[in-house]
Amino acid sequence: MSKKITSIRGMNDILPQQTPLWQWLEDKVRGVLAAYGYQEIRTPILEQTDLFKRGIGEVTDIVEKEMYTFEDRNGDSLTLRPEGTASCVRAAEEHGLLYNQTQRLWYAGPMFRHERPQAGRYRQFHQIGVETFGMDGPDIDAEVILLSARLWKALGLSDQVTLELNSLGDAEDRARYRDALVAYLREHSERLDDDSRRRLERNPLRVLDSKDAGTREVLEQAPRLEAFLNDDAREHFRRLCALLEAAGIEYRLNPYLVRGLDYYGKTVFEWTTRALGAQGTVCAGGRYDGLVAQLGGKPTPAVGFAMGLERLILLLEQQNPELPAPVALYIAAMGEVQSQALALAERLRDRLPGVGIVTHCGGGSFKSQMKKADRSGARYALILGEDEVARGEVAVKPLREDAEQQQLPETDLADWLAERLARSQA
Ligand code: ATP
Ligand code: MG
Repeated sequence: MSKKITSIRGMNDILPQQTPLWQWLEDKVRGVLAAYGYQEIRTPILEQTDLFKRGIGEVTDIVEKEMYTFEDRNGDSLTLRPEGTASCVRAAEEHGLLYNQTQRLWYAGPMFRHERPQAGRYRQFHQIGVETFGMDGPDIDAEVILLSARLWKALGLSDQVTLELNSLGDAEDRARYRDALVAYLREHSERLDDDSRRRLERNPLRVLDSKDAGTREVLEQAPRLEAFLNDDAREHFRRLCALLEAAGIEYRLNPYLVRGLDYYGKTVFEWTTRALGAQGTVCAGGRYDGLVAQLGGKPTPAVGFAMGLERLILLLEQQNPELPAPVALYIAAMGEVQSQALALAERLRDRLPGVGIVTHCGGGSFKSQMKKADRSGARYALILGEDEVARGEVAVKPLREDAEQQQLPETDLADWLAERLARSQA
């Protein structure tokens, strides 16, 4: 026998047992996005490598070591998208969506990063993100945060997550801050971990992210970015905080929050949880007014966020929300009634849109068909034998409640089922 071929490390199959929770999550998210009037955009999974190099920044973890980059057959360098923002900006700009107008967009789909796989960190993972364009005031920053807060409520996760907030100022503020931070950290470089010492040279703001205890101690006395903010950024942040307070959104100021992507400026935020160990960030975003111009467009204010669905699924699995059963009715066909069973199912699908109906295929004993009916999760087995067909009846066997099987004329069946199924959903 030849060796079995398996999936690629860090890239997961999502099995039928798990997809109902994924669909439930995705439906809830789509519902909230629709409630804010956001519109979906779909872009290719592959882009030119330069899009991410220019968009995300050459000295970020993603571009330096996490991208899946390869040569196309004609020699072009292509990359599997590691995140959604750069593609979204590319597409919006390419199709003239950013000229003289505002946009509220969202996207969903797989992202690819060559990281060390562990719980909550994979090489193919899924994000849903929102991106807004053309609005420069703190009100839109507040709106996307309100939207995310409503999402946690819809998912029953409000108690699990907290909002952290910071302002990064503009590029000049960060440049002046970077100099001050580097000067300070150099004085204490012997107390920094190796990773931070490397970052000190390449991307010093990322040292603020370090989880190393020694480094964190050094950081306590480090200069604060807040002191370097220009008046405009300071005022923007003050107004955002006031808007969030007026809306009743709790937040924690985190001066160390810098985010791993170069394109952010002014507002940055993260929703984090303690329930997932080290992989605690479930949603992250901020303002990136410089990105559109960096990718060749006109300067365009923009705010957005992305959330990782795998981490939300891990949280939801702990909560175990009640999901609608995919199958409500299972039609058992006893004897030579296959054609009548298929026809009955079609008539019921006409009358009961949205109700999952499975017709038993392949014959078998009454017992084995009932076992399959039970395993399908259906509320009712509808049993059709030659006698039932002759009388125009169907036998209805409740599978989830203590009630007797009964014979119903098919003319009454759809109404009877509609009423029972509605009652069991309420
Ligand atoms: P982290 O600090 O956890 O590496 P990040 O800063 O790289 O996250 P972003 O690029 O901002 O994350 O992506 C937003 C969200 O996407 C994260 O908060 C997380 O929920 C999810 N995410 C990022 N990388 C992965 C991954 N490799 N596997 C699963 N989810 C991920
Ligand atoms: Mg990362």
